[in-house]
Amino acid sequence: MEPFIRSDQYNFIKAQTQILINGHSTTNDMDVLHALKDIAKEKVLDLFMDMSDEKKQFIDPILNIKDKTNAEEFLSQLKPYVIPFKEVTEQTIRKLFPKAKKLKIPSLENIDLKEISYLCWDDKGSNKKYIVAQHHNKLIGLQGTFTSINQKGICALCNRFEEIGMFISEAKGSVQGTFIKRGNHICQDSQKCNQNLITLDKLNDFIVWLNS
Ligand SMILES: [Zn+2]
Repeated sequence: MEPFIRSDQYNFIKAQTQILINGHSTTNDMDVLHALKDIAKEKVLDLFMDMSDEKKQFIDPILNIKDKTNAEEFLSQLKPYVIPFKEVTEQTIRKLFPKAKKLKIPSLENIDLKEISYLCWDDKGSNKKYIVAQHHNKLIGLQGTFTSINQKGICALCNRFEEIGMFISEAKGSVQGTFIKRGNHICQDSQKCNQNLITLDKLNDFIVWLNS
C-alpha cells in the first residue's frame, strides 16, 4: 500500500493518542473512555477522504491505546505510510531562489523527510531564513530576514506557544522600485515547528499571504 498519511496528519494522530493516554491515566469510567476512543477514531478518520477499508484497518487499533507503549506501537505501524516530503536536489533549491546568489544549501542528509511539512534553514551570515514548502502540489521557496525576539509567542505556522522570531519577506510592489514587506512571527526552531504541525491550514495561509 502506498503511503497515505501526511506528516501533519501523523502529528495529529499522535496528539490524539496522547489524549487517550491522558484519559486512561485520569479515569476508569468505561463510558468516558469509550467516548474518548470513539471521538479520537472519528477525528482521525475525518482527516482522510474516501478512506478504503484497508486503510481503516490501520487506524482501528487506536481504540486499544491505553498507555505510552501502546501508542508508540500504534504509531510505529503507521510510520511506513507517512508520505515523505518531496526530495529536493541542490539544483531544485537554487531554482526556487534564483536571486539568492550566495545561497548556502543545508545538508539534507540528517532530515527525516517523513517528519517535515516544510523544509527550512537559516543563513546565519545574512540573518535569513529559507523555507521550501509545497503549495498546490508545486514546490515554492520563501525567503526572509529572521530576527529572534527572545521570547515565546504564538507561531503563525504551527499556532503553538514557542520561541519565536519575526520573519519578514520583501516582495516587489506594483509600482516599479517599490517593495512590500510582509512579516509574521514564526518558530525559531523549524524542526520543533514541523513536529507541532497538526494541520497545514496556517502554513498555507502564510504562503498565500506572503505571495499576495
Ligand atoms: Zn511553529
